[in-house]
Amino acid sequence: TTRTLAPDTVVFDLIRQEKERQTHGLELIASENFVSEQVMQAQGSILTNKYAEGLPGKRYYGGCEIVDQIEQLAIDRVKELFGVEWANVQPHSGAQANAAVMLGIIKPGDKILGFDLSHGGHLTHGSPVNFSGKLYVPSFYGVERETGLIDWEKVKETARREQPKLIICGASAYSRDWNYQALREAADEVGALLLADISHPAGLIAKGLLNNPFEHCHIVTTTTHKTLRGPRGGLIMLGRDFDNPLGLKTPKGEIRPMSSVLDGAVFPGTQGGPLEHVIGAKAVAFGEALTDNYAEYTRQIIKNAQALAKGFVDRGYQIISGGTDNHLMLIDLRSKGLTGKLAENTLIKADITINKNMVPFDDKSPFVTSGMRIGSAAVTTRGLKEADMDTVVDLIDQTLMHHDNDSRISEVRRQVNALMSERPLFVG
Ligand code: PLP
Repeated sequence: TTRTLAPDTVVFDLIRQEKERQTHGLELIASENFVSEQVMQAQGSILTNKYAEGLPGKRYYGGCEIVDQIEQLAIDRVKELFGVEWANVQPHSGAQANAAVMLGIIKPGDKILGFDLSHGGHLTHGSPVNFSGKLYVPSFYGVERETGLIDWEKVKETARREQPKLIICGASAYSRDWNYQALREAADEVGALLLADISHPAGLIAKGLLNNPFEHCHIVTTTTHKTLRGPRGGLIMLGRDFDNPLGLKTPKGEIRPMSSVLDGAVFPGTQGGPLEHVIGAKAVAFGEALTDNYAEYTRQIIKNAQALAKGFVDRGYQIISGGTDNHLMLIDLRSKGLTGKLAENTLIKADITINKNMVPFDDKSPFVTSGMRIGSAAVTTRGLKEADMDTVVDLIDQTLMHHDNDSRISEVRRQVNALMSERPLFVG
């Protein structure tokens, strides 16, 4: 039998179900957000049909005149957004951006120093299960047991002891701001390059709500889909060090600008054809992020995160470091006699999505964990304000405190659905 081309009801019915889930639920996963219709339209466009290996004006394929303009727009907008000298918008993801940077600027076997995964760091910052821990020799800094904060003098001591070629800062679950100046001092002392991975707080940094990494870090990477609210993707940027601070050389021994080293590390170093449909969507998202509406959105993200933190503290939950400067917080559930796994699995029954997360010095495995990570970026896009945050915490608290009471959890789910169902996914 031959198959005929017909509407793929199976896949599109699943997409419809997923949209229902996203609409009815409370989305508190700190790395997620909801993109605008325009971002989605660009990403779902015919740009997916085009091969465009190379860079605008320097492609290995014909017919790139229009995608050149789109990619150049994405570059120009992101340079304006972050006030930077250079950007490559092609990395397919945050992990790809970090892979390109590391493969471009250090050699296999070199030492790297990153933030401990179990304290809130990311897999691509030296974890043994990731390329970064397999190809390079990682060491880690972490937070202090008593305060939950990074001690910057201790990072310097670790750098002196380990003599890394690359220091990586940035995290997936650290609720406080970063002292980029101290980290640059640590890097300069040992002759290391400093990479900031701002995947999580990128949008807050773009709007000047957190310390500016570009004043001190040689290279900055980010994802585009978290607080930045763009399509799923990655990005590499250079601030004041865009020329070549450490005299990086090509395999032939020529000194090259860092920008050209990194362009080459993305393509042909680690990727083939760029995803021009995603780059088109990045251009749209960067355009949105340049607006006053977006600036207001980012201020609301922080207000909401602080209202969430207060709600949890008021109900006796223990937040690592005691609060938050950004969009997220890590909650140690041990004082409530719960695990992260139980919290995640119970909250999903109430249509509340969070993720279980290791807490610093956790005594449980990564599959169980003692913590949950909560972020405000997605619910802020749905239009929730500070006053709603106490309700959100109350719904979470009721669910967790009655985790073996199914009828109580169903009642919470009804309240969650009532709060969310009538709101569009994206409220500019
Ligand atoms: N870096 C950090 C700090 C992250 O939090 C993440 C995503 O969770 C990544 C990199 C990886 O991004 P992606 O999932 O797009 O590869």
